[in-house]
Amino acid sequence: MEIWWVGRILILLLLFPRIFGWGKEGHYAVCKIAQGYLSEDAEARVKKLLPDHAEGELATVCSWPDEVRFHYRWSSPLHYVDTPDFRCNYRHCRDCHDSAGHKDRCVTGAIYNYTMQLTSGLNVPDSENKYNLTEALLFLSHFIGDVHQPLHVGFVGDEGGNTVTVRWYRRKTNLHHVWDTMIIESALKTYYDSDLMTMIQAIQRNITDIWFPDISSWENCNSTVCPDPYASESIDLACKYAYRNASPGSTLGDDYFISRLPVVEKRLAQSGIRLAAVLNRIFSPKLPIAKE
Ligand SMILES: [Zn+2]
Repeated sequence: MEIWWVGRILILLLLFPRIFGWGKEGHYAVCKIAQGYLSEDAEARVKKLLPDHAEGELATVCSWPDEVRFHYRWSSPLHYVDTPDFRCNYRHCRDCHDSAGHKDRCVTGAIYNYTMQLTSGLNVPDSENKYNLTEALLFLSHFIGDVHQPLHVGFVGDEGGNTVTVRWYRRKTNLHHVWDTMIIESALKTYYDSDLMTMIQAIQRNITDIWFPDISSWENCNSTVCPDPYASESIDLACKYAYRNASPGSTLGDDYFISRLPVVEKRLAQSGIRLAAVLNRIFSPKLPIAKE
């Protein structure tokens, strides 16, 4: 009986897959990496905004926007942005809207909006604040992760790979889910002893080692937040890696897994570094240069 229910729920999840972001592991990894790069000010501000049950760890609540997607139905289109089929580029004006055409209701628009909410609420007493800054922090942290998942900036015709049915080894699934969850799950089992912290530590070592020369360009942004270039990178990677050799009905195995895992790990690293950078810019803006 219970198995039957599990089956029903799985079918429901397969029927309504648009709402997934990186899976729980991916979002945990992004926020855990970001925590390591927060300034003292930003860390203190973040901790103050976190709900008690987070126990001071942003990473534990970074999947919250996926958990409330049914309760907050309006938030569903904010997890992704659709781009025209086969163009392999992203334009904010052209692409950032929901299916009813409402402007800025997409992942990059949401990142701008929640950054604005946090910035404007900074020096306002809690009682006068018109925004829920705890929710703003959790949405921002989650959506910075989502915009880096290449298929969260995918073709409109296949709903970012959601309607591309494939096999991941023997399991029937869809291409979007492969990128949200399956590549990370397989990596955990194959290389990291099924331990997420071991995987995160491996990514952190790459950040301080092979990717170190690139970090300042990842962080570079001449405003508080720069989600549009991240979306452009994602659709480029979607075309070069996610959609390539993954036509409907294909079976994805070792070749696909081994060549795409480095892309996933780098995107998790970039999300973490960029999330920290935006939180640092919001919560500890550069002090004016002291006069002698
Ligand atoms: Zn999401």
